[in-house]
Amino acid sequence: MTVANEAAQQWPARAERIAAASEILMADQIEQIDGNLYRVWSRSNPGAFYMVTRHGCECKGRYYRPHLACAHMVALRLLPLVQDAAAEMAALLAAQFSPEEQKRMEFGRYLVERGMVSERVA
Ligand SMILES: [Zn+2]
Repeated sequence: MTVANEAAQQWPARAERIAAASEILMADQIEQIDGNLYRVWSRSNPGAFYMVTRHGCECKGRYYRPHLACAHMVALRLLPLVQDAAAEMAALLAAQFSPEEQKRMEFGRYLVERGMVSERVA
């Protein structure tokens, strides 16, 4: 993910947490609850989640290192950049392909995601 790579280059000391945050973002593990409050699903403990804001998190990592932003908080901070990038991509796509073509591409992705066809066929 380009956004994460750029962020990791800018803050090398945080590269590990940025990598973990990008995994969270890529896996779509963030759910907005209300305003600035989000639920972020745990990567290591399936079914578990943490309540997170940009400035706080209830996870153990944050508890033991309260002076550092944990991966969940970093993910939230990167979220607007990822959303911008996604919106940009969608706008580019909309400008380049007809709605009919876009629908076909979406359907192709749907089939690939569910393992119904291989990437090559779609
Ligand atoms: Zn956390």
